[in-house]
Amino acid sequence: MTRLAQAYEALAEAAAAVALELRATAPPEPSGAPLTELLPFDEPFTETVTNEPHGSAAVCPAHGVAYRDGTYGPYCPSLSDDPEWSNRKGYCNITPKNAAVWLRKTAAAGKR
Ligand SMILES: [Zn+2]
Repeated sequence: MTRLAQAYEALAEAAAAVALELRATAPPEPSGAPLTELLPFDEPFTETVTNEPHGSAAVCPAHGVAYRDGTYGPYCPSLSDDPEWSNRKGYCNITPKNAAVWLRKTAAAGKR
């Protein structure tokens, strides 16, 4: 057998193994009550959905203020009382880049 043939054989075996695995993990057929019984839509939705930005990509997680575009990128315009997260003038220095770090530290400190 040539090396190419061996390679193809190995590929075919791998594909067969994957196919078996997929068959074994296929989701079961839906059973039980029909969907219409599970989800009654007689009552109108009362929840309001907004597209206000939330999260660290658009809003400072500490102040809930949208970042502004500055010379050096987005910044939070709020004054901060946290010395670890403010500059010398007392302004918040949380940015989209370090917001995840702030969130982790705050969560670890149990402040939220
Ligand atoms: Zn801020």
